[in-house]
Amino acid sequence: MQVYLNGKAYEAKPGETVLQLALRNGIYIPHLCFHEKTGQAAKCRACVVEVEGIPGLKTSCNLPLKEGLKISTNSERVLDAQRMVVDLALSSGRHDCLSCEQSGNCELQDAAYYLGIERPTYQLYEDNFEVDDSSEFILVDRSKCISCGRCVEACNHTVVNEVIGFGERGFATKIVFDGDIPMGTSTCVQCGECMQLCPVGCIIDKRAVGSGRNWELDKVETVCPYCGVGCRMEVQVDRKQNKITRILGVDDSPTNNGMLCVKGRFGFDFVNSDERLTSPLIKENGSFRDASWEEAIALIARKFTEIKKEFGSDAIAGLASAKVTNEENFAFQKFIRKEVGTNNVDHCARL
Ligand code: SF4
Ligand code: SF4
Ligand code: SF4
Repeated sequence: MQVYLNGKAYEAKPGETVLQLALRNGIYIPHLCFHEKTGQAAKCRACVVEVEGIPGLKTSCNLPLKEGLKISTNSERVLDAQRMVVDLALSSGRHDCLSCEQSGNCELQDAAYYLGIERPTYQLYEDNFEVDDSSEFILVDRSKCISCGRCVEACNHTVVNEVIGFGERGFATKIVFDGDIPMGTSTCVQCGECMQLCPVGCIIDKRAVGSGRNWELDKVETVCPYCGVGCRMEVQVDRKQNKITRILGVDDSPTNNGMLCVKGRFGFDFVNSDERLTSPLIKENGSFRDASWEEAIALIARKFTEIKKEFGSDAIAGLASAKVTNEENFAFQKFIRKEVGTNNVDHCARL
């Protein structure tokens, strides 16, 4: 069907909303509570637009398209309303962008920039926000929360861990974990889905604080090295320090739809660990010494041959790893079956 955005004709897909059509065609409409994964919410009201023939402004995230609809996303009336909404969101928290971890990657900041809001007009809060640093990997700074509800939706309906909800009422409204206990003592599994979908700097990666903002880091797409699911991830790298700063799931990956588990998202400190093994070790007289690969492989081959000769092939078993490729696992089981001569071969994922 054909519809009109700001006077120009566009082809809409069946079931598409005004916001989806606009975003697909590179037309920005501020939106804070909507995310493709958590769906339409129509809570924040930042995405209002004007539709010819319909009185009042409409939220574009839940407005279905109809043949011939004429929509304005940037009239003065629309921009004034959007400005008021974003101004109130900024006014209801402590938004110090200069020192905020999320600066440069914040959807509220983007909306304020688009609408030309320099600073919040009001101060609608008392300065007594709770910071929850009880978890291993995630920091929750409620002074930045705009009550959009994305994290609640994400935890309950995307990853279905059912930990986050809203507590209290009115100005005291806040996100709570398991009723209202510290995140670190709740049933949260630290998957980080809420963190990834939070549009502002409220739920953030605790270990990445102060380690570089979005625009300073290189983004490298890869596949998680932990298990056979093969989740796609974006690794954010500080090239100067040669260090991984944080990891996000890739939203358009059919394998994981942007989700990661605690291992994939936070388990990367081994990469830069001083304790990482960099050469084979051989144990002699109760302690390990460095060895070359040639020496280590020759020793293993000799010991395997001795065991096989004395006790038979079934005295040996091979356990492969989920952290290597399918091809390496294939070669490994071939080696155990054909060269060692036993079917005692398994994989760590089943243990
Ligand atoms: S959450 Fe966004 S708007 Fe608020 S201080 Fe951080 S960058 Fe600025
Ligand atoms: S980290 Fe995962 S389990 Fe924990 S609150 Fe966030 S979405 Fe829920
Ligand atoms: S913590 Fe983030 S995602 Fe959750 S309600 Fe607040 S702003 Fe929205």
